[in-house]
Amino acid sequence: MRGDTTPASAGKRFVLPSSFIGSPRYMIENYQDAMAICRWAGYPDLFITFTCNAKWPKIELFLSRKPGQKIEDRPDVVARVFKIKLDQLLNDLKHGRHFGRVIAVVYTVEFQKRGLPHAHILLFLHSDDKHPTAAKIDKIILAEIPDLNKEPLAYDAVKQYMVHGPCESINSRASCMIENKCVKHFPKKFCFQTTVDNDGFPIYRRRDNGIYVERNGVKLDNRYIVPHNIDLLVKFQAHINVEWCNCSRSIKYLFKYITKGPDRATLILEENLHVDASTGMQNMTDTDEVKRYLNCRYMSAIEACWRIFEFEIHYRQPAVQRLRGRLDF
Ligand SMILES: [Zn+2]
Repeated sequence: MRGDTTPASAGKRFVLPSSFIGSPRYMIENYQDAMAICRWAGYPDLFITFTCNAKWPKIELFLSRKPGQKIEDRPDVVARVFKIKLDQLLNDLKHGRHFGRVIAVVYTVEFQKRGLPHAHILLFLHSDDKHPTAAKIDKIILAEIPDLNKEPLAYDAVKQYMVHGPCESINSRASCMIENKCVKHFPKKFCFQTTVDNDGFPIYRRRDNGIYVERNGVKLDNRYIVPHNIDLLVKFQAHINVEWCNCSRSIKYLFKYITKGPDRATLILEENLHVDASTGMQNMTDTDEVKRYLNCRYMSAIEACWRIFEFEIHYRQPAVQRLRGRLDF
């Protein structure tokens, strides 16, 4: 009975066990696993976001086999191709081809609503490669448009995948705009050289060198470039944001970010009108008594395929052995 607070009416508590992928306990366990790796390996050094490119030739090849076929018709192909590319990227990273010796990796795959998959990857480097200098960051992470004449491939890749915007005053209706501000804080400031501040945050070099790319008739310069590694970008031809993140304050945020779980929506089903049979008039009913709450989880077709294929949503290396306590479900 509503309003009755006696123990008999307190009801039972139903929980989703941690073995249920995406449940609160599952997310907490993954967060704790990531923290266990952190205790062993130190803070993560690089935060990489790898986004699927719908125009990868392999995906286009499959779509072209049937006239009129669109990407939403083949979520299975998107899932498989993204997994292949993600494995390749991880393989490259683990073999130290881009950033040095990697001792641990944690990643989470996410699916935007009706959108493409992307992976958030945390890389833990060998202790010799931690505490970078600005010069070292410049070697692995750039936030500038390459020279078209000297590096045409790099220029094309940055132009295609790593330009943010236009937003702010140029396009106030951009998807990144909330309350008239770009949530990603673009455009950044011009900066003559890379510096690392006292808190360990890098401020990437973004020189005012007159180089720009044009998008929708707007000239976008280095202030709009998302930090990246040029070798990865040219090889994988996709949006790959690379950020240096060796900072104690960001660690919990980052781990929560990669284990925050899928999008959820709370729907309230309520019937607040009824028709009086004798008069035919519509009356408002007491909505409190017909409220039902349904906690829904949206799963896109691509995520469904990913799960059917049993690809990992959360990955970590080295392995973490969980010691079961009595409170585990
Ligand atoms: Zn923006």
